[in-house]
Amino acid sequence: ATANIGVVGLAVMGSNLARNLASREGNTVAVYNRTYARTEELITEHPEAGFVASESIDDFVASLTKPRTAIIMVQAGKGTDAVIEQLVERFEPGDIIVDGGNANFHDTIEREKRIAPTGIHFVGTGISGGEEGALKGPSIMPGGSEESYETLGPILESIAAVAEGEPCVTHVGTDGAGHFVKMIHNGIEYADMQLIAEAYDLLRTVGGLEPAAIADVFTEWNKGYLESYLIEITAEVLRQVDAETGKPFVDIVLDQAGSKGTGVWTVQNALDLGVPVGGIAEAVFARAVSSKPAQREAVQKVVTSRPDVQKVDSSFADDVSKALYASKVVAYAQGFDAIIAGAEKYGWNINKDKIAKIWRGGCIIRAQFLNRIADAYDENPDIATLLEAPYFADAVAEGEAAWRRVVSTAALSGVPIPGFGAALSYYDSLAVPRLPAALVQGQRDFFGAHTYKRVDKEGTFHTLWSGDRTEIETEGSSH
Ligand code: NDP
Repeated sequence: ATANIGVVGLAVMGSNLARNLASREGNTVAVYNRTYARTEELITEHPEAGFVASESIDDFVASLTKPRTAIIMVQAGKGTDAVIEQLVERFEPGDIIVDGGNANFHDTIEREKRIAPTGIHFVGTGISGGEEGALKGPSIMPGGSEESYETLGPILESIAAVAEGEPCVTHVGTDGAGHFVKMIHNGIEYADMQLIAEAYDLLRTVGGLEPAAIADVFTEWNKGYLESYLIEITAEVLRQVDAETGKPFVDIVLDQAGSKGTGVWTVQNALDLGVPVGGIAEAVFARAVSSKPAQREAVQKVVTSRPDVQKVDSSFADDVSKALYASKVVAYAQGFDAIIAGAEKYGWNINKDKIAKIWRGGCIIRAQFLNRIADAYDENPDIATLLEAPYFADAVAEGEAAWRRVVSTAALSGVPIPGFGAALSYYDSLAVPRLPAALVQGQRDFFGAHTYKRVDKEGTFHTLWSGDRTEIETEGSSH
């Protein structure tokens, strides 16, 4: 046995991760893939990596030094289960199995439970950053036991992205915590992308700018408070010209956005946890709406006129940037609320400022902005929402007037802004002293005797709506 780490599954993600591991001092990397042709291709193309390649799973396991550590990078679901079984049969207590695929965290919790009695550590690990991240340095979110992190931590720290001198990896929490946080990362990513897309639409439809000019605006934004990888690549996409037609690339792409499921998982779990993540949910729904050509065509057929686009002046782009920033703060606040709720429900001790820090490099939502989130939670880990942290409270207050102008201009001009609109409504819902939820409680009590609480005294009450409409005190709860 010569290899301190192994990788199973050598499609694009696994190959790149294995190469990344091999490029770091001190690592000898064992590799194995179900179909040997893939392994052969990797070792032939990358002799410099010094891979220890095996044709059989037995040889692969034998090539690992103890405690054996193997990272699985195969198709999520059945493929992952098949490989886990093969390793569990051959590993010994103290060995470590890492699932680096995009597993559903509920599966990770189940797998950990199943494997724990064997004494083998199972570490569900979120890996973000796509192919390039896997090769050059991803953001890594391992769950699993504290003990396993002692062995695994230094290896993962050696391959992770580095942001401001710190590796983008931390032990997130036990069992499924890593995959849970990776899921929320993807949900936030959906929201951020949707908000940027809405900003583009506003600058184009209302602001009258062409894609290339909007690319320049975004490049400018990327030097300020909106600086982020997503703004940077958006500018590049907008600057792209289609070789065949000479048109802006964005105009030749079919406007139906796809998704792979992690955004949907975020919203499903937020619903289960009772956490309002409207900004993220609207982003997921916006992709779904775009992908319903029959409904879009049907409505376009019956709509005879569209509203006139509002006239705006040269300050509009600045307004949009402020609206984008405020909406983004809301989306991230909602994402972190979901992390807090998940941690509470599943018993994870998640360090929020560390999560913000490991997202600063390697992953799709990487941005300076995450330093502000880290600072906020570092200063006070118990804030009820990021929106109360002084930095964000000030930022949103400063952009608030612009945010409202942009949302109303969009509504009057007929530009869909599900992300901006949902974010502003969420903010207003938190900011107003009274909500019409009181009336909803009245309706619920009327038709279902669901009871209500009063603002002026303790207790739970019900009004005899179908009787004499007097109020009685009840034992029930108003929720
Ligand atoms: P794929 O998801 O395309 O999976 C292909 C790999 O899985 C091959 O190595 C294949 O082996 C193996 N495999 C499938 N079924 C089995 C099985 N029953 N037994 C053994 N091996 C099996 O590979 P990717 O590299 O695209 O992704 C790997 C993982 O990383 C996935 O979980 C994916 O969701 C995740 N991912 C993460 C990204 C990120 O940004 N974090 C981006 C892309 C993917 P064979 O060659 O024999 O067919």
